[in-house]
Amino acid sequence: MYGIVGNATDPLAVGPSLGYAKTMDVRVIGGGLAGCEAAFQLAEAGHRVTLHEQKPVKRTPAQVSDRLAELVCSNSFRSSNVDNAVGLIKEEMRRCGSFIMACAEVARVPAGDALAVDRVVFADTVEARLRAMPNITIVPGEVMAIADDGVPTLVATGPLTGDALAADIARLCGQERLAFYDAIAPIIDADSVITEDIDPDGGAYFKSRWDKGDSADYLNCPMTPAQYDLFYDALRAADTASAHEFEELHYFDGCLPIEVMAERGKDTLRFGPMKPVGLYHPVTNRRAHAVLQLRKEDLAGTSYNIVGCQTRMKQGAQREVFSLVPALREVAFLRYGAIHRNTYVDSPAILDDSGALRGRPNLWFAGQITGVEGYVESTASGLLTAMVMKDVLQGKLSASTVPPTTTALGGLWRHCRGTNRADPHARFQPSNIIWPMMEPLPAEVLRPLPGLDGKKAKKPQKSDRKHLLSERALADLSSWQAIRRLG
Ligand SMILES: Cc1cc2nc3c(=O)[nH]c(=O)nc-3n(C[C@H](O)[C@H](O)[C@H](O)COP(=O)(O)OP(=O)(O)OC[C@H]3O[C@@H](n4cnc5c(N)ncnc54)[C@H](O)[C@@H]3O)c2cc1C
Repeated sequence: MYGIVGNATDPLAVGPSLGYAKTMDVRVIGGGLAGCEAAFQLAEAGHRVTLHEQKPVKRTPAQVSDRLAELVCSNSFRSSNVDNAVGLIKEEMRRCGSFIMACAEVARVPAGDALAVDRVVFADTVEARLRAMPNITIVPGEVMAIADDGVPTLVATGPLTGDALAADIARLCGQERLAFYDAIAPIIDADSVITEDIDPDGGAYFKSRWDKGDSADYLNCPMTPAQYDLFYDALRAADTASAHEFEELHYFDGCLPIEVMAERGKDTLRFGPMKPVGLYHPVTNRRAHAVLQLRKEDLAGTSYNIVGCQTRMKQGAQREVFSLVPALREVAFLRYGAIHRNTYVDSPAILDDSGALRGRPNLWFAGQITGVEGYVESTASGLLTAMVMKDVLQGKLSASTVPPTTTALGGLWRHCRGTNRADPHARFQPSNIIWPMMEPLPAEVLRPLPGLDGKKAKKPQKSDRKHLLSERALADLSSWQAIRRLG
């Protein structure tokens, strides 16, 4: 176990913008997916990289091996279909020369449409390739604090960052800007919410409580007493995900899972997140027995967050329970609710446009600690942050440093910048890659297409829209790469 002491080296050549060296030492803390991806990219760009990994001296409670880039649970990088957001981001990463994606190909095992790997072959490949790079030095041991020695540093210590380093990060960014658990409410597709129902009181309606603020930001899903009873009984019976031993959660009253609130009494939810007061129906002027509120999640309004409904219910149970709300009977989840141990910073508040800590332009964060979720997204974050670090260190930071927001990579980057949030004051919540992070398709593309043989005009279906989004993303990525080559 050891902390870093100052060891800044003399710059070899001074870059034009921040006075950085063109080729200089950089430090990466954490040899997980984000750290290994970034270390490779920075070394490829000619930097001398010191990669600090606490293993084999210490492991997190989820780790079982001493290898770098350990996949702690599933061996799958999920779908490879580019009409799926996670498949698209993987394809973009490949086209951008992702090191981890290349190693995953080497270790690939058959898994249908998914990219799954032999985790031992995968980790061995990552480690062997990094060790073979002459300008990467891997230093074992836990980093206890971030040195302020002028060496550009990337922190990629993941969701289970140890206490000492976490305390130092909290010192740098503010205690209230570092979270140790995520408590996430589901995010659903706006198109799946039923707003017009045969029952005038049944569909969801726009209104903000007591008409304060912009009513277009909230959709309200009303329930009668009988409908609420059904919902409540299903919630009480729902299957919840079991916690890892190290995850025994101590809930804060402000973000209790809805199933825990429901345990406290039948009306707890009706006096909590589902209270109907101030939400009279705009047409019938009636007050529902309970109201589930949906808050616009992205600027374009393509997705909604189920307000106050953070949950540990299993995914199947979430589908079952929420579809009992009449306006959500066709609900399509973009991101399920979850609550687990997760160390992450409030990226939009503490990081600047280059992903560096505000006021500390040589300290970056990447991976799950920045509020992305999952193997693929953490790797993508390492790749994106390395792109930015390279440009900053070489004095070339520009608007085209990261891919445009029409791509999945650009969308993930702006998720961490917080610039796509419908409510800039909403609590930052970690997320895996979802379509609403990307720029929506222009209205003219979504206009109904004339039907063939005189059939009725048809609006593009959801699957067509994903395909169009994916096609546009890959085309825009190519254009961005062409611009980068010219620059
Ligand atoms: C229990 C659990 C199960 C998960 N299951 C899945 C899953 O099935 N699928 C999925 O997509 N995602 C899963 N995730 C999320 C997944 O772990 C992350 O998304 C991904 O691994 C994060 O990548 P990362 O590089 O940010 O961090 P990590 O992969 O966690 O890497 C961080 C590295 O930093 C090292 N480190 C930490 N602190 C220090 C320190 N102070 N000094 C030096 N080194 C340090 C760690 O040893 C580790 O090697 C799971 C997470 C957990 C906790």
